Amino acid sequence: MKDFSKYNTKELWNNDLKHNMHPFTDFSSFKKEGSLIMAESEGAYVFDTDGRKYLDGIAGLWCVNIGYGNEEMGQAMLDQTRRIPYYSSFGHLTTPPAVELSAKLASLAPKSLSHVFYGTGGSMSNDTAVRMVHFYFNRIGKPNKKQIITRTDGYHGSTYLSMTLTGVEYDHIGFDLAPDLVHRVSAPNVYRRPAGMTVPEYCDFLVNEVEQKILSIGPENVAMFVAEPIAGAGGVLVPPEGYHQRVAAVCKKYGVFILSDEVVTAFGRLGEMFSSEKIFGFTPDIITCAKGLTSGYIPLSANMISDEIYDVISVPQAEGASFTHGFTYSGHPVSCAVGLKNIEIMERIDLCGHVREVGKYFENQLIEKLSDLPLVGDVRGSHFMMCIESVANKETKELLDPNIAIGNRIADKCQAVGLLVRPLAHKNILSPPLTLTVAEVDFIVSTLHKAILDVQDDLVKEGLWHG
Ligand code: PLP
Repeated sequence: MKDFSKYNTKELWNNDLKHNMHPFTDFSSFKKEGSLIMAESEGAYVFDTDGRKYLDGIAGLWCVNIGYGNEEMGQAMLDQTRRIPYYSSFGHLTTPPAVELSAKLASLAPKSLSHVFYGTGGSMSNDTAVRMVHFYFNRIGKPNKKQIITRTDGYHGSTYLSMTLTGVEYDHIGFDLAPDLVHRVSAPNVYRRPAGMTVPEYCDFLVNEVEQKILSIGPENVAMFVAEPIAGAGGVLVPPEGYHQRVAAVCKKYGVFILSDEVVTAFGRLGEMFSSEKIFGFTPDIITCAKGLTSGYIPLSANMISDEIYDVISVPQAEGASFTHGFTYSGHPVSCAVGLKNIEIMERIDLCGHVREVGKYFENQLIEKLSDLPLVGDVRGSHFMMCIESVANKETKELLDPNIAIGNRIADKCQAVGLLVRPLAHKNILSPPLTLTVAEVDFIVSTLHKAILDVQDDLVKEGLWHG
């Protein structure tokens, strides 16, 4: 039995409000409502300080892939802490877990990406990718080849550079970006594609847009194209069939590298350890991953780097600088030991196989049971990466007034009955632990169904929506 009497919710709540500055927070509502404080966990469930239990439809933040409370993960942490809790990997130093995890990751990633560089989060790894590629082009005597192309609604992190890569406009409001580095092309938003365009025509349009963008900047100036296989925080945007392969062919034609940001899509969320090659059929030059790499139990991220890039940036530096990039916690032995244990567990229980079966059921059930609801415009995604987009009008796809905060209303109804789903403006995101059972899938689908209908009733009563 879990003991919640040790938590003083009121005191925690007050001190949180006073001293703990949260990331990505609307302080107007935060200062009124404060926080929901999560204290305990087990399997697919989390518990707040008052002992209320919630099925975590978000897996923390797309990350607790193997589920909560795994004792083996705790043991791996303890064992490695006892052996050696930290050592630097600068220069000629390393530790056994950093080496072993690198070899394991190289065996799982596309064959040509056999070099691993560690960080402690997705933003840091995307930032690293830009620095590495710029260094590469300096090394081969093409110092002008530095421009980066990213997509509207792509999310790549919130360091200065990774937020500059990020194309979610809402995230830019009031902040500055690194000027003159990044150019944008359209996100593949099939649901909101131009009226009258078929999906294959839309794919042609998107691929052509990338090519035209490269040509307009000048291929001699373009270093890299950056994209998530499925854009996550931008609204779970699944590209049209063949999109990534065709964009990759365009990039290859002009000597433009591809960074595939697999911070969300790696480690099983779509049923494979890495999705770029196995699911989308293209081989990037760099893959960044984080989150599911340790199932969020400890911070760790990795860049998988191609032999082509490695062979240039690792050439002994007779003239010019050495490779001056890295972090105190790059290759942290405890994080790497936990990453190794996480992958061992995933392989032992065939978590990817489970996702291919139960994740597909989740996807199909959400589409089947929710698509016809009057407020639901689109249910999209793949396996355990899903999104529900609400609209005022199914025909015109017109949105409700943002002040209605439809995503929050749906999330609040779900939370009241023990389900956490993530609101993002007029969307609700679902990215549960990958261990979800069929019964848990059914609970999520039926709870959401009722929540959306209840919100619909409220809107009618409040005179905010008339159907
Ligand atoms: N890339 C993607 C696709 C993400 O979804 C995220 C975070 O959600 C990041 C990068 C940034 O990762 P982090 O928050 O670990 O810096």
